[in-house]
Amino acid sequence: MPPEWVDRQLRRRGIRDERVLAAMVRVPREAFVPAEARAAAYADAALALSHGQTISQPFIVALICQALELQGEERVLDVGTGSGYQAAVLAELAAEVVSIERILELAATARENLAAAGYDVEVRVGDGTLGVPDRAPFDGIAVAAAAAEVPQPLYEQLVPGGRLVLPIEDSLVVVTRTDRGARARFLSAARFVPLRSGLPDG
Ligand code: SAH
Repeated sequence: MPPEWVDRQLRRRGIRDERVLAAMVRVPREAFVPAEARAAAYADAALALSHGQTISQPFIVALICQALELQGEERVLDVGTGSGYQAAVLAELAAEVVSIERILELAATARENLAAAGYDVEVRVGDGTLGVPDRAPFDGIAVAAAAAEVPQPLYEQLVPGGRLVLPIEDSLVVVTRTDRGARARFLSAARFVPLRSGLPDG
């Protein structure tokens, strides 16, 4: 039996992909949450990380994963590593995950969290709006911070038929790369921290 929170927070709200549900059961969210928030690890909410950032609500993580329609053989890019939690769930669902974070300290903690939980994810420090050209193309790209428009390099680093899930302002959307251009579909209203270009000062 899956834990009660999976039923209540995910299945009843429309997460139907059994691989995604199983991945959400397997990844220990408490391993990615700061010590002081551990008691609330499975709360139906985003939680605070350092540097004013947040670990996304479980439902949003599951919704992003479901929209990517992963089968297990894919290479995926995760933009905005934060705690590493979304990257860990993606690692359960795809063959290869590369994650990029602009804040050095968050990337370092995420690397430790991922290794301690047994996930093999490459965490880069850099500006994720530029993607990771030397590892492209990607079958799927998940973005955890909101932009005003689709960053063109991310779209260009998708394989034909690849999917990019990202918040555009307050809307989570899935953009599919097709031979006739980009096709976008609205998934949910959602609040995300801003996607910032460039690296932090200092
Ligand atoms: N997926 C994360 C959510 C982190 S919140 C998790 O599961 O915990 C979004 C993250 O995006 C923040 O850590 C923020 O620093 C990062 N971010 C914002 N703009 C970015 C950019 N241009 N490139 C890489 N990371 C960025």
